[in-house]
Amino acid sequence: MQTLTHWIDGEARPAANGRWLEVFDPASGQAHAQVAAGDARDVELAVAAAEQAFPAWSALRNSERAAWLERLAAALESRIDAFARAESLDGGKPFALARDIEIPRAVSNLRFFAQAATQFSSESHHGEAGLNYTLRTPLGAIATISPWNLPLYLFTWKIAPALAAGNTVVAKPSEVTPLTATMLGELAAEIGFPPGVLNIVHGLGAEAGEPLVIHPRVRAVSFTGSTVVGKRIAALAAPALKKVSLELGGKNPTLVFADSDWRNQLDTLVRSAFQNSGQICLCGSRLLIERSIYDEFREAFVERVRSLRVGDPMADGIQLGPLVSQAHFDKVVAAIARAREEGGNFLCGGDALDRPGWFVAPTVIDGLGPDCASNRDEIFGPVSTLQAFDDDEHALALANAGDYGLAASVWTRDLDRAHRLAAGIRAGMVWINCWLMRDLRTPFGGMGQSGLGREGGSEAMRFFTEPKNVGIALQGNRPT
Ligand code: NAD
Repeated sequence: MQTLTHWIDGEARPAANGRWLEVFDPASGQAHAQVAAGDARDVELAVAAAEQAFPAWSALRNSERAAWLERLAAALESRIDAFARAESLDGGKPFALARDIEIPRAVSNLRFFAQAATQFSSESHHGEAGLNYTLRTPLGAIATISPWNLPLYLFTWKIAPALAAGNTVVAKPSEVTPLTATMLGELAAEIGFPPGVLNIVHGLGAEAGEPLVIHPRVRAVSFTGSTVVGKRIAALAAPALKKVSLELGGKNPTLVFADSDWRNQLDTLVRSAFQNSGQICLCGSRLLIERSIYDEFREAFVERVRSLRVGDPMADGIQLGPLVSQAHFDKVVAAIARAREEGGNFLCGGDALDRPGWFVAPTVIDGLGPDCASNRDEIFGPVSTLQAFDDDEHALALANAGDYGLAASVWTRDLDRAHRLAAGIRAGMVWINCWLMRDLRTPFGGMGQSGLGREGGSEAMRFFTEPKNVGIALQGNRPT
């Protein structure tokens, strides 16, 4: 059984209270590690270390900070297989998904923001009275709090821009999947990353997360997770008027029109609903299908979903692993039961698999309207629903039914319609004839119950800096 410690001031440390939490392998349901159950005392140490490291780190040249991030990226890249195995063990995701997509993406996050550090620029405004220019300075010690569904991918998506912009970080990974963040802390120490610049504190949200959010010397909080916890964090940060970025849940629509190339895109459409067992905030879990192709689409889609290979995430060719935890498994099973109570027509799946671990069969349901809880609440599992629409207006109304507004995809060959719907859909990200096409420069985030603020590219660099305007009167100009 592995023991996973905090990383504070460049050193591995157990929790000050001496407590540990069990960490489980979702494919077997057995504990495979224990992780430090941190609390306010560990947070205090980590924030003090981050504060102490801040002056030197923020004073480095941008190119020097970039070089440190590059070194960390290179070290991670040289161990992709080990990190992918760990991610698969901890979260139950197929090894190939971790090796080919998620860990390489963590490497890209570090590299991308290393470059951003050297490319970031600010504005200047030349006016009648004089010249204004904007300084962008780092904030200080920053808190990042990340979820279990894409553990290292989202952990690095936050720490990289915070560090690139000159801040120091106290990062709290999910207690459900703490393994790869701990390994990254170890890697950082191994390559001599300056102590105190990146600190990792483990523990439960209420015990380690909350003290971090309310800590008076933490200048900003970057959070990805559930809407319920996001609201709690916003409330906790409000009295200090702390900067907060919130990336929260979603219930994303996938709009499939009769004129689209849907027959050749079925694999992508299935992937968009079921990748990582539906545990991706961007998964399209509500499929809206033009009525003229509804029956044909449903048959082809369900057949493809039935053929998904579910099983041991380390085995070759497996496409879907288990759900991440007993608690999440219980939540998804309850959502399936509720869909039954609502009168849903189960086209496939609908059951847990009869084997150890937290496996749920990929499930497709139709016969439920837009007001059903099954079509409004985030399930975050291998469960998708199908609804038919009659025309563009109906499709738009269904897409916008609900309180979330994270992402959507639209499948059509009609360019006018694609642009009209992209403008009309209430979501922070819309993909046309593709899903999860990512360019790290673009604004990433949602509206409504899906969050506040945007990550990615210069949006992230702006969040992690404070603008200060400097106005200079130019000789001979009259102030207005
Ligand atoms: P969660 O909200 O339960 O936990 C997320 C993190 O917050 C964990 O590290 C947890 O320990 C911590 N936390 C919990 N309570 C806290 C508190 N009171 N104070 C401070 N920290 C606290 O979410 P989860 O179950 O880990 O992740 C799944 C959710 O994340 C889904 O709703 C999913 O849609 C969302 N998500 C959103 C995005 C996005 O970019 N919008 C990306 C991935 C996941």
